Amino acid sequence: MPTWEYAPAPESRDIANLKPNYRMFVDGAFVEGAGEPLKTINPATEEVLAEVSTAAPSDVDTAVKAARRAYEKVWGPMPGAERAKYIYRIARMIQERSRELSVLESLDNGKPIKESRDVDIPLAAAHFFYHAGWADKLEYAGFGPEPKPLGVAGQVIPWNFPLLMAAWKIAPALACGNTVVLKPAETTPLTALVLAEIIQQADLPPGIVNIIPGVGPVGASLVNNPDVNKVAFTGSTEVGKLIQSAIAGTGKKVTLELGGKAANVVFEDAPVDQAVEGIVNGIFFNQGHVCCAGSRLLVQESVADELLDKLRTRVSTLRIGDPLDKNTDVGAINSKEQLTKIRELVQAGEDEGASRWTSPCPVPDKGFFFAPTVFANVSQAMRIAREEIFGPVLSVLSFRTPDEAVAKANNTPYGLSAGIWTDKGSRILWMAGKLRAGVVWANTFNRFDPTAPFGGYQESGFGREGGRTGLEAYLDV
Ligand code: ADP
Repeated sequence: MPTWEYAPAPESRDIANLKPNYRMFVDGAFVEGAGEPLKTINPATEEVLAEVSTAAPSDVDTAVKAARRAYEKVWGPMPGAERAKYIYRIARMIQERSRELSVLESLDNGKPIKESRDVDIPLAAAHFFYHAGWADKLEYAGFGPEPKPLGVAGQVIPWNFPLLMAAWKIAPALACGNTVVLKPAETTPLTALVLAEIIQQADLPPGIVNIIPGVGPVGASLVNNPDVNKVAFTGSTEVGKLIQSAIAGTGKKVTLELGGKAANVVFEDAPVDQAVEGIVNGIFFNQGHVCCAGSRLLVQESVADELLDKLRTRVSTLRIGDPLDKNTDVGAINSKEQLTKIRELVQAGEDEGASRWTSPCPVPDKGFFFAPTVFANVSQAMRIAREEIFGPVLSVLSFRTPDEAVAKANNTPYGLSAGIWTDKGSRILWMAGKLRAGVVWANTFNRFDPTAPFGGYQESGFGREGGRTGLEAYLDV
């Protein structure tokens, strides 16, 4: 196995146009919130990037009122073809500022620049492009001749794909004629606030989109605001349950996209090298901070040793370090809290008797990093097989028959995604029908497309985002 030396190839951080202070975006203007300002840090260096003003409960109220006014007077009555023009404009402006947004995303989140540049930002633009196309065609979407918007959408998003999650939430809401108040995650507010700048420059009338940073309770006061008609949340199952019980009986429409513990199932007839790439992508993409990550590898016993050998060899070549370096494969863990959680679960894996292997790659001394780790000899009862780790840690289990693979894959309270690796088309179809997961990938993993609905079963939440199906969440049907 040759070892490759790479010279550093860092992207310049100047491209991010980082400002010392960022403010909330309410009713078309950047304003100071009355909440405690938060400092957002670069998880790769632990330095403070910027101070961000946050919303107090009264600011949440102001933002929801602005969204209500804009819904009633401007956006609700506007013809779909007019709405589409604004949404296309936002999409194009995201593309124009894509380098800036990529660098800023990698600084604030810790993800490798090659991912923010090639995945997050282009997909965020794609979501606006795709939904712009729907804005004037809603009567052909299969929801009746005149589907109506719901009103004001209160949206709360996590830190793993900051701009992309904002796009997933805002684009369909706008296309369907709703107005928005969105709360980004406390550790990654910056790209959402640049999106606010783009929205302002796109001349979207005031109040249609409002972005209010803040901690968890700000999210709670947003989703509980009586003037919010639709709640869209992506985050932990724990908070999803809180939200669901808080809004029960209020008549608000809700979609929840929560955690996952996806099985990536490899059969003995799978193309092994391709499967290895898919497994690596499935769990080490975005440091494993992916709700649909393929965090449980189920491999058929007859090929388990060969596959594991190849996997370890491949994982040893992943480069961990500076997220702004174009050669980096695995960046920083987003926060100290998340790093602590990953360490705790990895310790539990060792204590419960699984065999740990961690890549010998060099890890930076500063910042929050965790080297890619693979646990073999994992049994279904272990915490590392049941709980979402949300980090670069893979648990490997084996199976002998397809029925056993299905039983093990479905043995989880979650049900967001799954992967199948096999040469047989018939087996793919058979498995896909048996797996209780919202998204099933075959001979690939972590493929995202705005045209494809995404969402979960059971404790992974409900409702779909993306595609024609995703429109239903923002329409009164
Ligand atoms: P994670 O564990 O991935 O950080 P969380 O569910 O804690 O996921 O956070 C996802 C988003 O939900 C964040 O924007 C966070 O501020 C917000 N949040 C946290 N607690 C609540 C709550 N009780 N109600 C609404 N939003 C919340």
